[in-house]
Amino acid sequence: MNSVKSFDSLLKALIVTVALSTAAFSQSAMQWIDITAPLSANTPVFPGDAPIQLDFLKQFKNGDPLTLSKFTMGAHSGTHVDAPLHFIPNGKTLDQIPLSTFIGPVRIIDCSPNALAVDAAELNKHQWRGAKRIFFRTRNSRNHWMRDSQFHPDFTYVAPDAAQLLADAGVELVGIDYISMEKFKAEQPQTHRILLGKDIPIIEGLDLQDVTPGDYELMLLPIRVMGHEAAPVRALIRKP
Ligand SMILES: [Zn+2]
Repeated sequence: MNSVKSFDSLLKALIVTVALSTAAFSQSAMQWIDITAPLSANTPVFPGDAPIQLDFLKQFKNGDPLTLSKFTMGAHSGTHVDAPLHFIPNGKTLDQIPLSTFIGPVRIIDCSPNALAVDAAELNKHQWRGAKRIFFRTRNSRNHWMRDSQFHPDFTYVAPDAAQLLADAGVELVGIDYISMEKFKAEQPQTHRILLGKDIPIIEGLDLQDVTPGDYELMLLPIRVMGHEAAPVRALIRKP
């Protein structure tokens, strides 16, 4: 009788422990990680693109009875999405891309620390096949370049041969951790044309400096601007 009782209380304790640890686990699994670059005067701007100006039209310290701001910037500011129309004549505008493209599993691949390009050889060093959405964490993140107002022309980019592999494999979304995915001053925007030509939107300007590579769930929501080729986004990931 005694041993039955103690077994019973042991079982109860075990159930409570399992319940508590399951709750703790699901809470940590719920935790979203923000991979959006902060928009500020320190956000790098691609040479020739519109400057980012975040101004106060009215503010309390000037005696105004309210705060009122005005944002002026290019559509490709900070973390943003490129829709096909960016480089494809009559290509899809951002509002024509289903939101389901931006929500779901994503694989974050940690590129070789000194890789200047994600080309086919670099891509194939990693487990990328089978992933629906792929974001590349490169030396751009390790150097914190999405938080540096100075533009770094030697940023790591995705080379056309890698873009072709991704497009041919049916990847639905590709992202990188600097404000462009194309080699700086490339003669032709081949990487953009390969991906956008297959209706694969491109995410640029991700802030992956604090992210551990691996598989995540992605929630990426672009501003609902109508008829344009790009817009800033808010991008979040969490462990599935
Ligand atoms: Zn862009």
